[in-house]
Amino acid sequence: EQETNMHYLTANSVKSLVPVRLKYCHKGTFGHALVIGGSYGKMGAVLLAAKAALRIGCGLVSVGIPHCGTNIIQTAFPEAMVFADTAELTLRDFNFPTDLTAIGMGVGMGTDEQTIRGFAIYLQSLSEDARLVLDADALNILAQQESLLQALPAETILSPHPKELSRLIGAWDNDYEKVSKAKVFAAQHQVYLIIKGANSVLVCPDGNLYFNSTGNPGMATGGTGDVLTGILTSLRAQGLSARAAAVLGIYLHGLAGDFAVKDTGEASLIASDIIDHLAKAFQELL
Ligand code: AMP
Ligand code: MG
Repeated sequence: EQETNMHYLTANSVKSLVPVRLKYCHKGTFGHALVIGGSYGKMGAVLLAAKAALRIGCGLVSVGIPHCGTNIIQTAFPEAMVFADTAELTLRDFNFPTDLTAIGMGVGMGTDEQTIRGFAIYLQSLSEDARLVLDADALNILAQQESLLQALPAETILSPHPKELSRLIGAWDNDYEKVSKAKVFAAQHQVYLIIKGANSVLVCPDGNLYFNSTGNPGMATGGTGDVLTGILTSLRAQGLSARAAAVLGIYLHGLAGDFAVKDTGEASLIASDIIDHLAKAFQELL
């Protein structure tokens, strides 16, 4: 019984999850992803996530950022629509479009007091069927406010790196204990938990575990996690279930990294290179 809920991800096991683009589609067909995050000096995280989201095929990408990021995003990424907040990200007065189909939150967001308060209020305002991906500082805030974990929409994806994970589930002595604690957490809060690392693992609320097979040490560099957040948000925006989005997302992210490393080598690989190789990763699955 223990073994039947462990899965190893291969090209064949994820291929069927790739969204199909029919001839008479339009940009509305593929959803509208929103990335919320950024702070002074960390706008690049939002840029990486938003670009990755569009490369993964959602129809529209918007970003919700503090005011100081407007020119940065609009200049570096003309395809994105910008919703600018005040000097700090408070999430209070955003007037987001009503057609959003997924929201990714937390990259580069910081933990300013106003942001923490605004984040909590925003999270509680979301409907139960909102499609949510939480990463980085969104997770750091969750780890401090247990009550927010109870209020998460169904099918929320969390994508912590090891430090963020330890804030959520506590310390572990070995990999077995780490996964065991993650399983308890995912079941208790009914979330899809991606344990990021050399071999990322998706822990589902029903106890299923999916072990990724793609990726390489070149990806141990700043910004690669932000790219993953964009990928996950985009797949959710296109209508994939949390399980399908997480499975396909971690696989594509690693595969793009594997194509990138052939060009750059491990030491020189940077997060943008992963975005630049997403198209190739996609083609491999067609
Ligand atoms: P973050 O720390 O949030 O930027 O996330 C790092 C990303 O890079 C995650 O998606 C990890 O799975 C990936 N990553 C980090 N180190 C490695 C490694 N040694 N091999 C493969 N992937 C890695
Ligand atoms: Mg990160």
